[in-house]
Amino acid sequence: MSGKQRIIDDLAARLEHLLPPQRPVGLHEPSMTEEEKRLVGDCLDSGWVSSVGAYVDRFERELAQYTGAKHAVCVVNGTAALHVSLQLAGVRRGDEVLVPSLTFVATCNAIAYLGASPHFVDIEAETLAVDGDRMAAYLDEIGEMRDGELINQRSGRPIRALVVVHVLGHPARMDHLKVVADRFGLELIEDAAESLGSRYRDRHTGTWGRVGALSFNGNKIITTGGGGAVLTDNEQLTQEAKHLTTTAKLPHAWEFMHDQLAYNYRMPNINAALGCAQLSRLDGFIAAKRRLHEDYRRAVEGCEGVKLFTEMAACRSNHWLNMVILDRAELRDPLLALLHERGILARPLWNPMHTLPMFSQAPRMPLPVTESLVARSVCLPSSPSLASGDGQ
Ligand SMILES: *Cc1c(COP(=O)(O)O)cnc(C)c1O
Repeated sequence: MSGKQRIIDDLAARLEHLLPPQRPVGLHEPSMTEEEKRLVGDCLDSGWVSSVGAYVDRFERELAQYTGAKHAVCVVNGTAALHVSLQLAGVRRGDEVLVPSLTFVATCNAIAYLGASPHFVDIEAETLAVDGDRMAAYLDEIGEMRDGELINQRSGRPIRALVVVHVLGHPARMDHLKVVADRFGLELIEDAAESLGSRYRDRHTGTWGRVGALSFNGNKIITTGGGGAVLTDNEQLTQEAKHLTTTAKLPHAWEFMHDQLAYNYRMPNINAALGCAQLSRLDGFIAAKRRLHEDYRRAVEGCEGVKLFTEMAACRSNHWLNMVILDRAELRDPLLALLHERGILARPLWNPMHTLPMFSQAPRMPLPVTESLVARSVCLPSSPSLASGDGQ
């Protein structure tokens, strides 16, 4: 047997041993209990299933409380939360927005919806998030400050904002990134779609920038079926977010008056009811995921050429998805094939955004860390129910 085959056989055997016997094992599955049925049932009984209702207000209040943001505004999905966040942060047609190439496509789609262009920056291997130092050196080289605005000298366009993504739930180095963003006059926006419950230096992800976006899609750490939220400390932005996501309708007993182009993006009450039940279980999910991470750590320990990605000091990750990094890129696809054959539905990271047809012409800095990590990483099944000693 070749050394290559031995490594992936060894790793697959360790993972099979760790996971419960049911096959297939999905990458991430939601967990529902009587509490979810109770609150959704109550919502149905109330008749208030659509965009107005007590559960939307309650879910927003509880999200703000949980994250420490002053305000949360719930919307139909994480992509809508990003779209609104970028617009509220002042991103306009013709702008460039710095964003890691390692993200889910929605981050870049939201930038493009506004007529702006993503401008790709590289990540650091320790956090999987934007590398602040290398980005700053790059901006020093290509950028010029004009009247407090950073202009890309190569394209002549303003670089308006930086979107930081907390990949797989792992917090980015937000204190450092905030300093870099301030130095270049950039608006700071966080894509915290995967990182509900994750903190950096005891401050929740999504609350460091002017606005942050959460997702409650079916595969995230908690779900509302589909849903998202905008987090902010700013009262005026909160009002603007509510206005922009409810067709900009002015309050009136019977008149239909709308004062700007806007969206129908508010979260329905029925989804918020599900969200309230799920949020009450979030700390349990995180505890289970931290146990599962420990299980994976023990299973992978001593496995040649394989490392489990883990959080950096000062980070408290929700460990939404576990990921192994292989020394050798040529093992990634054979490992994925072997795991799928055995009913373990592991996945690679996303194809980097600069390789997708609609973003291939977008400006970018050299992306060696992104390319190397994507080529060598495999995400492992991470539902909370897979953790050892888990009763949920
Ligand atoms: C899930 C996700 C989104 C989009 O959220 P949806 O609710 O699916 O629209 C955006 N960014 C990242 C990093 C995500 O993982």
